[in-house]
Amino acid sequence: MKIGIDVGGTNLAAGAVDNNGQIVHSASTPALPENGYASMVDSMAALADELAAWVKENAPEDPVTEIGCGIPGIISRDGATVVNAPNIFWKNEPLQKDLSDKTGLPVYLANDATVAGIAENRFGSTKGFDDAVMYTLGTGVGGCVIINGKIVNGAHGVASEIGHTLDGKNFYTCNCGKNGCLETYASATGLIKRAQRLISEGMQSSILDLAGGDPDKITAKMVLDAAKAGDEVGTECFEIMVDKLTNSFANVIDLIDPAVFTIGGGVANAGDFLLDALKDGMEGKITYPELVDPDIRLASLGNDAGIVGAAYVGDYIVKK
Ligand SMILES: [Zn+2]
Repeated sequence: MKIGIDVGGTNLAAGAVDNNGQIVHSASTPALPENGYASMVDSMAALADELAAWVKENAPEDPVTEIGCGIPGIISRDGATVVNAPNIFWKNEPLQKDLSDKTGLPVYLANDATVAGIAENRFGSTKGFDDAVMYTLGTGVGGCVIINGKIVNGAHGVASEIGHTLDGKNFYTCNCGKNGCLETYASATGLIKRAQRLISEGMQSSILDLAGGDPDKITAKMVLDAAKAGDEVGTECFEIMVDKLTNSFANVIDLIDPAVFTIGGGVANAGDFLLDALKDGMEGKITYPELVDPDIRLASLGNDAGIVGAAYVGDYIVKK
């Protein structure tokens, strides 16, 4: 049994996860990042202790062997330190040691988008492939790159940040300070901003009706639903997103040639409409089309992926 802890700005959600990726027991507590790092580590240790005690009582044949954490931030190359996690105000925190000291168990850390990709690779849409890349299309765009069955952290811990790879210039600047990041085209935020802009420029759109006439109430789902219905603004937002995502897939194929791509996050709820457009959108973008027919899938795990993936981080890290 392994414990997974999904660290968010609002909640710490944890679970004891069995060999089949089932959460056999879960626990959560408010994150309260304003109380500081040490207080959060205490809360994480308390959750782990609670779960370990439950397992000892209820599944003594399968004791807890390790803890994995999904962190909304950058993890050092050696997996020991949270370099930066702005949403929870952590900077250079030695979480691996601190949580291990408190619980007496090995601790492994990964970025939260990476954790989602681990869950998919172990139990979901990319199961069975040693080279897999996941894009999480949510408020931002997160990435998980798995090569030879291991996640890629990079020399400075900042690898797999697919959302901040650049493609041209966009009409607004990314949260990271750069202009042209993939996430400004392909995230929910990017879709909403583009729809708002096109409407403000005078284009007629059913999206405004869906939003009750208030551009501030536009959601990514409205934009995608409008695109499905053939709305002009929805279609333009959607086509630009597909073009930028398929450029990114093509670039990733040229770099590392993964066996499979998977897309998750709220935007991926557009389902086959998005998947079919992405497959069609690869036309003309592959350097060796006679060798590569990209396998693009939809993520298959739901809300539990954050905990399940975290639990299995240890399996995806190169241990020294
Ligand atoms: Zn960026």
